[in-house]
Amino acid sequence: MRALQLIEDRRLETVDIAEPGAPGQGEVTLRIRAVALNHIDVWGWRGMAFAKRKMPITVGAEASGEVIRVGPGVSNLREGQLVSIYGARTCGLCKACREKRDNLCEHVSGVHGFHLDGFAQEKMNLPARLLVPAPPGVDEIGAAVAPVTFGTVEHMLFDNAKLQPGETILIHAGGSGIGSAAIQLARRMGCTIITTVGSDAKIEKAKALGADHVINYRDDRFEGVVRKLTKKKGVDVVFEHVGADTWARSMLCMKRGGRLVTCGSTSGVSTSMNLMQLFQQQLKILGSFGCRMENMADAMQKMAAGHVSPVIDTEVDFDGIDTALQRMEGRDVFGKIILRVS
Ligand SMILES: [Zn+2]
Repeated sequence: MRALQLIEDRRLETVDIAEPGAPGQGEVTLRIRAVALNHIDVWGWRGMAFAKRKMPITVGAEASGEVIRVGPGVSNLREGQLVSIYGARTCGLCKACREKRDNLCEHVSGVHGFHLDGFAQEKMNLPARLLVPAPPGVDEIGAAVAPVTFGTVEHMLFDNAKLQPGETILIHAGGSGIGSAAIQLARRMGCTIITTVGSDAKIEKAKALGADHVINYRDDRFEGVVRKLTKKKGVDVVFEHVGADTWARSMLCMKRGGRLVTCGSTSGVSTSMNLMQLFQQQLKILGSFGCRMENMADAMQKMAAGHVSPVIDTEVDFDGIDTALQRMEGRDVFGKIILRVS
């Protein structure tokens, strides 16, 4: 069967690998349907100095699959069922896992597609406890974007930033996968949404998703526009994932007591910070990584009810992966790129 593997930095190849054997205790065999691409795939592809990794590694951190074989001891899944796959291999036993705070697992063995083999392969065996059934009305693409895209945003906005109805939020990069999800989820809360985009072509698309104000950050300094729009008060919440390029100015966008939640740093990981501003303005900075499995279930329920829907830029097959990653690196996308596996 086919798998898409990173052989060395910037070199991905489709290879033949052995089919998985019979599923073990508590496992099922999945036919992987769709993989959604994320910035973690771009980092992996272009090489990360800080991550020690085995090569070759099968890529793909976010995916959906169909159950094709059920192993012993699995009672909650059946053949033919569509599932969304949790992106990290947690232990299932520690205090955090038992309390369903999955992304705080004390013995996590890594993130699929980055530290461990990922989901860009036709079939694989996985523990049933790391699979979330897709409800009726959610297809293989909806289930594929639930773990990293929608799950991460659910966890950021609701578990961490505790976004309240009617609040004002600045969402960076409204054309990105998580940005487009955040706009829809905040819209549903009745929030006032200010978002940034990098090209005029993305302005109308961001408005169509529910943004009230869209700033082209290449033309205007977003912090000035935010202060003007909020009558110098600032926003309640900043949704960060850009990092070095925006951090200091994002800090200036918050009202006193405001919250900044971040899950990424696509423009760089290092920055400096004015500590007096932090404590005098009583700002709250919240780091967020991944999600709880309940966040995936919540996101898919909202998809099934028609409240949110994945924004898809393009679908590609294994041969289209290089072009897809180059476009993501160049920010030339609106929404998600989906890799069709089978
Ligand atoms: Zn654990």
